[in-house]
Amino acid sequence: MSKCVAAIPLSAIARLSLVEAGGRSMAQVKEALGCDWILNAWFYSMATGKAVGNLKIDGAVKAEAPWNSWGMTWDAVNVRMDVVPDSGGRNYLSGVELLTPGRGPGAALSYDPAYGGKRGRSAMMVAGRHLILYCSGDGTGDAKTPEGLRDELVEIGGQYADTASLRALGLDSGGSSQCDFSGGRRITSARRVAGYLCVWLRAAGNPPEKEESMGKYRVTPSVGVNARLGPGTSYGKVGAYPMGAVVEVLTIQDGWGRTAEGWVSMAYLEAAEPRATDTGLEIQADYIPAGRKNRPGGTNPGTYITIHETGNPDPGADGLAHAAYLKGAAEDAFVSWHYTVDDRAIVQHLPDWETAYHAGDGADGPGNAESIGVEICVNAGGDFEAAKANAAALVRLLMAEHHIPVENVVQHNRWSGKDCPHTIRHTEGAWEDFLALCRGTGAPASALDEAVDKLAAAGLINSPDYWKAGDYSAENVQALLIKWAASL
Ligand SMILES: [Zn+2]
Repeated sequence: MSKCVAAIPLSAIARLSLVEAGGRSMAQVKEALGCDWILNAWFYSMATGKAVGNLKIDGAVKAEAPWNSWGMTWDAVNVRMDVVPDSGGRNYLSGVELLTPGRGPGAALSYDPAYGGKRGRSAMMVAGRHLILYCSGDGTGDAKTPEGLRDELVEIGGQYADTASLRALGLDSGGSSQCDFSGGRRITSARRVAGYLCVWLRAAGNPPEKEESMGKYRVTPSVGVNARLGPGTSYGKVGAYPMGAVVEVLTIQDGWGRTAEGWVSMAYLEAAEPRATDTGLEIQADYIPAGRKNRPGGTNPGTYITIHETGNPDPGADGLAHAAYLKGAAEDAFVSWHYTVDDRAIVQHLPDWETAYHAGDGADGPGNAESIGVEICVNAGGDFEAAKANAAALVRLLMAEHHIPVENVVQHNRWSGKDCPHTIRHTEGAWEDFLALCRGTGAPASALDEAVDKLAAAGLINSPDYWKAGDYSAENVQALLIKWAASL
């Protein structure tokens, strides 16, 4: 065969890995790993075997060039083009920029002269929801110039996505070009290259090993939302979701969530399923309506968590009562915060990524604009110890979701000098005890959870939640065993 093209739906991919050959042939690597598709990948020095450009494999940086470029990157299976190394995920590689946000069809390419001429070519492309792998044999009628390859990729990719959103990277070429795709489509070469891109197909009926998720959200605006290349309106549009679409948010950064299609402003999304603490307590959303004076919107990077006490000893002054207060009388007082926690419930009043008025340090102060405000109820008849434990469980959830260190869990007092949280401040050791609860020393982990955390820390698994849930596909267990054996 002189040319092989594979268009793989992203949803069908179980794993996508960059694999160091270590002197093995393509056939030996494929046999050892049992992958469904294999393609030569990164550029390397023929003299030293060392990777050229930027390369990161499963969290370990293997090559670091002193420049940023467009490369392909992914954490689990969500491959995308982004700026590497700066915006790269757990895996990335650089190569020849064939189709990038700034380099569409017909644009001049930039490459080393040694890459030019009519040669066998390898490339990877993201076209909509498909990963396209391309390989042609050196010295065959399908050998092409870089420009010819780019034009052919535009033609192929156009079947899956609009031309402006095609992203393609040229991989090592010439005698290095080789592949073995599902269905026996193969281009062989005697050359043993430095590394390969390996793809595993998801077994029918089995879930893929999933990336950690921030949960599912529903698109709220009637006109839908744009998905962008990065977290901000300055990034180009790469897709869109209609109103009502339920999307999985993989990470949240600066008020933007990363989804399968691209980055979406969290302001246009609402949680589609309840969030819950590690103690199983669900967060009840009861938002202050948009447009109220005590819901200023704005942004909130979630750098800090600010702890308050309500200071209201009335017997009925629980979480839901404060939700009603925030939607009523609090408006004219310009008072708001994100969560109220009592001994039975956690009620959320504002999305985490919005500014709120609780810290007394001004509309743009770090307390109001950079912290998430949590009020603990002190209502008579309520169990204050249970309320504090629930608040600590919420803090653990927020710390994990927003990557907030426990050092940034602070008292209201820090921002304005107010004597709040009052009871905690006036009880010997109570603040230290609360922080200990926030660190999780109060929540015993199961033996399985501890084992999973150990394996995650050792870099053997990427999705702790999936493994803690205890429901595995045989394929994922096999992949773990192979990775485990390779690490010995
Ligand atoms: Zn306070």
